[in-house]
Amino acid sequence: MNYAIGVDIGGTKVAVAAVDEQGTIICQSVIPTNLQIPPEAMIAEIQQEISRIIEKSGVLVDQLTGIGIGAPGPLDSRNGLISCPPNLQTWVDIPIRELIGRSFPVPILLENDANAAALAEKWIGAATENENFIYITVSTGIGAGIITEGQLLKGLKGNAGDIGHMVVDPSYGECVCGQSGCLESIASGTAIAKRASEILGEKLTAKEVFHLYQEGNPRIIEYMQEVFKVLGVAAVNMINTFDPEKLVIGGGVSEFGEPMFDSIRQYVQRYALNPTGRKTEIVSAKLGQQAGVIGAAALCFHIESFK
Ligand code: ADP
Ligand code: ZN
Repeated sequence: MNYAIGVDIGGTKVAVAAVDEQGTIICQSVIPTNLQIPPEAMIAEIQQEISRIIEKSGVLVDQLTGIGIGAPGPLDSRNGLISCPPNLQTWVDIPIRELIGRSFPVPILLENDANAAALAEKWIGAATENENFIYITVSTGIGAGIITEGQLLKGLKGNAGDIGHMVVDPSYGECVCGQSGCLESIASGTAIAKRASEILGEKLTAKEVFHLYQEGNPRIIEYMQEVFKVLGVAAVNMINTFDPEKLVIGGGVSEFGEPMFDSIRQYVQRYALNPTGRKTEIVSAKLGQQAGVIGAAALCFHIESFK
């Protein structure tokens, strides 16, 4: 059996896992993303974690196909660079492939995190039967991985699908990128925590907002309806542009579950332009929090849609 190490670098946490050729995680861990230390120091922590996972899993060097890294964009996947992600603000032109490669003499592959998660959902998740689907992650930021005709749409540098900075409602005010009303500045976990804290006048995380929602807090319910509508707008944009058969939605914020999915479905049923588009299946990611690491590991296995 061959194995790969998957590394999913997020704005909140870094997940590292040893994954076998069937996509089974045999050993994994999660460390917090520390943005107070230089990127090189954080990468050193990631390297230590990779070593620990290799040791703990008992995978031998000659069984290790490679290390796959999923990271937030913008990046340059071909050249192995993390360029300037808004959610890793100090990480500018970081040659992550080279840095990780110094400690591990195996192939190192880099891909946008949402693209990696999309590959995982295609491989063993919610879209194994789909040749045309879009994976959307609503987490610290928002991104998408687009699979058309069974192939991942990469674009020039591997940044296709970076939908977080698609403008959905300019009235919402300025985003970190300089535009007004970007999807991510309204509906990401970061944005939800910020806005809900303003509404209730107390410091809240997106998870706490989720609990208040479940408890039926009226102001939070009203506010979240707006957020769900904006996610519906994004879904319609994607459906009209790419004509997928399915949307798979994951990331921490998708824990809002059925109320969020129903809201998006209703918006799509009403506003997608094409009658078949209105019936696009909208489902929850099957691999949940693990899509990122499994997809990152999958980059190392030569599976048809990943080329
Ligand atoms: P990352 O962005 O590091 O890949 P996640 O996909 O877990 O990580 O997304 C983290 C974001 O999701 C944070 O903003 C967090 O507050 C939010 N989040 C995590 N759990 C929940 C939940 N149950 N309900 C709503 N938001 C959540
Ligand atoms: Zn923006």
